[in-house]
Amino acid sequence: MSETTQVTQYGMYIDGEWKQSDGGDTIKVINPATEEVFATVPKATRDEVKEAIDVAKSAQPKWEDLSPLQRSAYMMKIAELIDQDQDRLARILTMEQGKPIYESRFEISGSATNFRYYAEFARRIAGDVLPSDFPRQSIMILKLPIGVVGSITPWNFPSSTVARKLAPALITGNAVVTKPSSNTPLSTVELVKLAERAGLPKGVLNLVTGSGGQVGEELVTNNDVGLITMTGSTEAGRKIMQSASNHVAKLLLELGGKAPLIIWRDADMEWALKCAIWARFWNNGQTCIAAERMYVDSEIKNKFIPAFVDAAKRLVIGDPSSPKTDLGPMVSGDEKKTSESFIQKAVDEKDKIIIGGSSPKEFKKGYFLEPTIIEVQEQKSPLIQEEIFGPIVPVMEVEDFDKAIDLANDSIYGLSSYVFTRDSNRMMKAMYKIKFGECYINQVGPEQFQGAHTGFRQTGVGAEGSRYALECYTQLKTCYIDWDDHPSLPYLFPYGSKS
Ligand code: NAD
Repeated sequence: MSETTQVTQYGMYIDGEWKQSDGGDTIKVINPATEEVFATVPKATRDEVKEAIDVAKSAQPKWEDLSPLQRSAYMMKIAELIDQDQDRLARILTMEQGKPIYESRFEISGSATNFRYYAEFARRIAGDVLPSDFPRQSIMILKLPIGVVGSITPWNFPSSTVARKLAPALITGNAVVTKPSSNTPLSTVELVKLAERAGLPKGVLNLVTGSGGQVGEELVTNNDVGLITMTGSTEAGRKIMQSASNHVAKLLLELGGKAPLIIWRDADMEWALKCAIWARFWNNGQTCIAAERMYVDSEIKNKFIPAFVDAAKRLVIGDPSSPKTDLGPMVSGDEKKTSESFIQKAVDEKDKIIIGGSSPKEFKKGYFLEPTIIEVQEQKSPLIQEEIFGPIVPVMEVEDFDKAIDLANDSIYGLSSYVFTRDSNRMMKAMYKIKFGECYINQVGPEQFQGAHTGFRQTGVGAEGSRYALECYTQLKTCYIDWDDHPSLPYLFPYGSKS
């Protein structure tokens, strides 16, 4: 750490109070561009997590008793405060995560929109009124809050993934205990500070910081947490499913991705190229919907791949706080090592590394890695099968569109997919036959608020975004109501009426 770096001590937020951990331990937050520690957050003990859950449980009934419109007023205020503070929040996000500043601004504005989007549902969270089989009776299906929601988030979108959980949880009347990734806790701290400034009642939103194994584990196993909403790796998702099975908690899991990008001979090549560069290298490849493998029509391979390589060479790597930068550092030394291990696997397999493969020489500090394009021969290669969360892309040539779809579907992951073609039959095939939760046709992400963000296979359970997320944050309750002195009752209760 340089002597000039100021280290700011942040707290966690329980029952409306900011505090350090009674255990006294802290987690260091590192700027991945400089490798300097610039902040700390407390490492919560399990008792402190239990306390946060108890507090949420006590605060929830009053929050539920407000009308959705009253709850939405707080959320609109949070959105307004996020917008007003966009520049500062973006700088903090870039400092802890390493993404270029313009991407951070975009993410922060998305966080505000998440609050606004779900606040606007206040008048539309409706159940059903159904006819009964019997006269003068009604059936009503209500959508009630679940109670306490445990929210667990990753480091790659440390602001918007949190907002995407808090907003639907709050509008539906739940109280929340949220835990950010230890790599990037500050964006959550800042969101919670704004919720406090917006006047959110004490205890409705609580923040605990610490590891998945300790803080996360308490959230996941605690009987009083009715829903665990987690975004992260499939590996952690599997563990959470196991731990949560003890009390059969409801789960919303948004897990890993390995998006295929298919580019066909009839595509608009220039547009496809631009999109492919963004789809792979956005956020340095650390995006769940990133195009993680490319299937290129063999007819255009010799035209597309060199053009793709040229475009990747033009990406500016550097200081993420500069508006000129396209690629900042990776989030951490560990993540960089994981990416490098994929490059080594390619070397071992004698795959052709077309560009990249090393750390750029000009940086003495920071977790920078060159954009790397690798020509891969085998579908079974780990580069095609495993999630690579970094600026590395394997490309494979394919001769037949149906075969490309089969290869795309050959994955344990099923989040996003991309297809570039102007042929309407191929588009329709892509829509119906590529078994991924999102399909971008001649388009790229990010996903939009009204779209359901969800996946096939081991990408998870439930959906985020859209009105479908509200289903995950509510519990259905069916009420059968008799509204007369009912003559039909004997018909239902024959016992004793026959003597
Ligand atoms: P991660 O799984 O390591 O951690 C995610 C969160 O889960 C962290 O807060 C972590 O502390 C917590 N956690 C880990 N193990 C836990 C356990 N056993 N119990 C409770 N909590 C636990 O993921 P990451 O490295 O932070 O993020 C990258 C991953 O997230 C990638 O796999 C990416 O695809 C995925 N992701 C998915 C989506 C999506 O929408 N599907 C979006 C963003 C990121």
